[in-house]
Amino acid sequence: MKQRPAMTRFLDAGDVAALVRGEGVRQAIVQVAACVREDFLRWQAFEKSARLASHSPVGVIELMPVSDGAQFAFKYVNGHPRNAQYALPTVMACGMLADVNTGFPLLLADLTLATALRTAATSALAAQAMARPGARTMALIGNGAQAEFQSLAFHAMAGVTTIRAYDIDPGATARLMRNLANVRGLAIVPVRSVSEALSGADIVTTVTADKTRATILTPDMVQPGMHLNAVGGDCPGKTELHVDILRRARIVVEYAPQSRIEGEIQQWPEAPVSELWEVLSDAAPGRVGDDEVTVFDSVGFALEDYAALRWLHATALARNAGRAVELVAMPPDPRDLYGWMMAADPLDPPAATALSRPMPSEAMTS
Ligand code: NAD
Repeated sequence: MKQRPAMTRFLDAGDVAALVRGEGVRQAIVQVAACVREDFLRWQAFEKSARLASHSPVGVIELMPVSDGAQFAFKYVNGHPRNAQYALPTVMACGMLADVNTGFPLLLADLTLATALRTAATSALAAQAMARPGARTMALIGNGAQAEFQSLAFHAMAGVTTIRAYDIDPGATARLMRNLANVRGLAIVPVRSVSEALSGADIVTTVTADKTRATILTPDMVQPGMHLNAVGGDCPGKTELHVDILRRARIVVEYAPQSRIEGEIQQWPEAPVSELWEVLSDAAPGRVGDDEVTVFDSVGFALEDYAALRWLHATALARNAGRAVELVAMPPDPRDLYGWMMAADPLDPPAATALSRPMPSEAMTS
């Protein structure tokens, strides 16, 4: 009989945060970007599908699987723009990396932070190919959980040195400024409107959260040569750009079958698009001419989470982070599941962990 795999490595949210701090946030984004790039360049090796989404009036819960035939990954992720009222993040995620040869789960990890890293890394990779050369100023509309990561990625990878930040909540912009106050060579300028944010911007990142067809950007605001990084419109009925902006722009998406359902281009089903892998492999241009408006219509694709998971796994192994858990039953005789169960020491049920805040269902009924 062949040797069994080791136990599953488990990284909780604190473990992942410590790993990212240990690497340095900018460094972690750059490393994740390298993994995302490598995996997009092997696009044909992956079995791909649009994610499975379960919608409710207040949000969405999604499952995102992908495999390259050697490893299988999936992410569970939600998007609930009104979660702040429960002191919960809008986006929360966890996921798994498994060995295709045996199906054994290698890694189970929080992916909330990794989602922010990979989203920012992918946006910056797209901007490297799509923004005008010499772009230095970025408008950042929506200064919530993703904002610092987007800012750091564009600073580290796309040459951005000034961010013109706007949010309907001035407290969000103040937090962004506080959190990034010590980043050398990056100035955060607070502004009072979307139009003011776009004034003089080379790149515009929209990363707002609202489950509606919003028009954060209208055609009159968009100047020739701008690159738009549209991140917040990522499920049916949730968009940020006026459709006429798309009609005049070169559009790049991650995976067209999913983006046509979830992206800005849900507003224009027959929109001509290139996929990011084509742009990264020079099979399609990211930009043709300094005056062109370009749009990266980001929704988040499973391949980016696969890249983030394999980065997390390798980094955790190198630093011996997290812990090994027996996530799945491992009977000594693999076909004697019942015998293993009966022989196991009876365990007291673990004491219920006290919750420090009411869960949403309790809060809603109280
Ligand atoms: P968040 O709730 O932490 O932050 C959203 C921010 O947007 C808040 O500060 C809010 O005040 C602000 N906002 C809402 N409406 C606005 C408006 N009209 N103008 C300006 N600001 C406005 O959410 P987050 O985690 O930062 O995520 C932001 C968005 O990005 C969400 O819609 C999320 O679903 C999406 N997202 C996309 C990807 C991707 O891969 N494309 C990945 C992660 C998150």
